[in-house]
Amino acid sequence: MKQKEQTIFDHFNRPLRDLRISVTDKCNFRCSYCMPAEIFGPDYPFLKREELLSFEEIVRLTEIFVHSLGVQKIRITGGEPLMRRNLQDLIRMINEIDGLDDIAMTTNGSLLPKYAEELKEAGLKRVSISLDSLSDEIFGKINGRGVTVQTVLDGIDAAARAGIKVKINMVVKRGMNENEIIPMAKFFREKGHILRFIEYMDVGNTNQWKLDEVYPKKQIIEDINAVMPLEPIDPNYTGEVASRYRYVGSNDEIGVISSVSDAFCSSCNRARLSASGMLYTCLFSSKGHDIREPLRSDLSDDELTTLLQNVWSGRKDRYSEERSVASKHRKKIEMSHIGG
Ligand code: SAM
Ligand code: SF4
Ligand code: SF4
Repeated sequence: MKQKEQTIFDHFNRPLRDLRISVTDKCNFRCSYCMPAEIFGPDYPFLKREELLSFEEIVRLTEIFVHSLGVQKIRITGGEPLMRRNLQDLIRMINEIDGLDDIAMTTNGSLLPKYAEELKEAGLKRVSISLDSLSDEIFGKINGRGVTVQTVLDGIDAAARAGIKVKINMVVKRGMNENEIIPMAKFFREKGHILRFIEYMDVGNTNQWKLDEVYPKKQIIEDINAVMPLEPIDPNYTGEVASRYRYVGSNDEIGVISSVSDAFCSSCNRARLSASGMLYTCLFSSKGHDIREPLRSDLSDDELTTLLQNVWSGRKDRYSEERSVASKHRKKIEMSHIGG
């Protein structure tokens, strides 16, 4: 079947193209803006094994998404995806799905020295590695576990050595790490990896998000431009979330993901599947659609396809375009559950 015939559209005529699959809600970090240690403590009720979708269940759903619903890209995320045992087996199984263009992963990088080679061999093409500072003092505080910068840099090097394409994600929060923007930009320009700045977002309800802690795209660009002049460049494809810039006179580039100051809902083509099989049509959803229960009953692939089609065609989400002060009181899914 041709791609065009498979495409499904939501209420605002947005196609489904990108599926993010969270494979665990657990993490070995406790980033203050994502899983604050005071809340995600030893007694936190993380998902039990039987609540997680198995690799076979994930692959069955992914096949339906790719073959019948127009998904072209898969990103594996978490929690920390590399905390899920034998993740390389899942990557291999997904990579074998006919018609899939791209498989990537987002990780905190700490376990990449151990797994990068196996992941590459299993078919992983691209990895986004999160790092918010080059200072051990700042980074140790942010990750809540005192993990050193070198641990993540070793992960970055391991992935690059294995031949996996690397991008770096840096969440910028005012008062936390805005002074790290320039050192990070210089360091990763030199190293030859694209750095993407992410505005601090009001995902979930545990991080006590405040609008004045957002360090907006405009400011990030102004800061860098004052030291290393930048010029905007065109998106690689429709629906790309990062605005791209290049350092004048070179091909070295950076990106900014401005979900707060400059929303991009009108081209949002992403769905998110949680580790427990809930499907979310927006990062800021209050509730999802349970796919695990139908998956574990006797539904045929055709019936599952119809169910998923109905979820997407009823989609009206445009949270970032509607964000308001009142919205902070709305109940939202945590980032570690939905996967970013
Ligand atoms: N553990 C992996 C990691 O940190 O890369 C994958 C999951 S994490 C939830 C995915 C991405 O979301 C990371 O780049 C992280 O920095 C980002 N993130 C988490 N909470 C955020 C927030 N409140 N605002 C913006 N980005 C956030
Ligand atoms: Fe873990 Fe990633 Fe969340 Fe940090 S951002 S706590 S590494 S899931
Ligand atoms: Fe997509 Fe929701 Fe983010 Fe808008 S707020 S870009 S609809 S995930």
